[in-house]
Amino acid sequence: MTSPFIVTIDGPAGVGKSTVARMLAKKLGGIFLDTGATYRAVTVAAMQQGADLQDLRAILDVMDRTTFDFRHEGDVLKVFVDGNDETQTIRQPDITENVKYVAGKQPLRSRLVELQKRFASQFDIVVTEGRDQGTVVFPEAQFKFFLTADSKERTRRRHEELKASGQEMDFDELHEQMSQRDYYDESRTVSPLKPAPDAIHIDTTNIDAETVVEKMLEIITQQTDQQSV
Ligand code: C5P
Repeated sequence: MTSPFIVTIDGPAGVGKSTVARMLAKKLGGIFLDTGATYRAVTVAAMQQGADLQDLRAILDVMDRTTFDFRHEGDVLKVFVDGNDETQTIRQPDITENVKYVAGKQPLRSRLVELQKRFASQFDIVVTEGRDQGTVVFPEAQFKFFLTADSKERTRRRHEELKASGQEMDFDELHEQMSQRDYYDESRTVSPLKPAPDAIHIDTTNIDAETVVEKMLEIITQQTDQQSV
């Protein structure tokens, strides 16, 4: 099997990674992978089974006895836990709040990284987004992007998304929660959120997703053309 052409997109919460990954994958004729969904799915399973989220062994046991399935249906990555569609559940606030227990434990991460690599290996072109895609999971990726944006703007975008999905939330409270999550993701010892040394940085504060995708495509096309000359 030949290795897929991989583009990684990392960055903090609400920066637009999922939207951009989905759009870029479509333009490139590939698939997108939302790796946050894998951490969220394990959190859903652990909570549904009443496992102690602080207990590594308990969560490993949950992973052993649970089947996780990630399937593309059109533009949506559907998430199944033991055959049940949990695509909506993984976005619930209590899951977002508790995902740090799964994300902070190396043995769990190792298993999810394996799952992410296995998933990607089925396709020719993959745009994958998360926190550690360029640094840990796919350091050999052909293109690595790191997105940033002002934290108030990121909160505004997430606030809009939540509203559109029927989840109203106080702006300041959401801002506080997102700041805490970013702090946690950046400061944890295992696979912290950080750009790969060779990542291309894009500040998305004042540009929309279409423009970000255009910039990425420009960079990918330019460099790919140069290499093939
Ligand atoms: O991207 P999303 O907000 O769905 O990610 C949820 C959480 O999963 C993040 O806050 C982070 O703690 C964790 N995560 C991670 N590594 C990834 C993707 C997500 O640690 N590659």
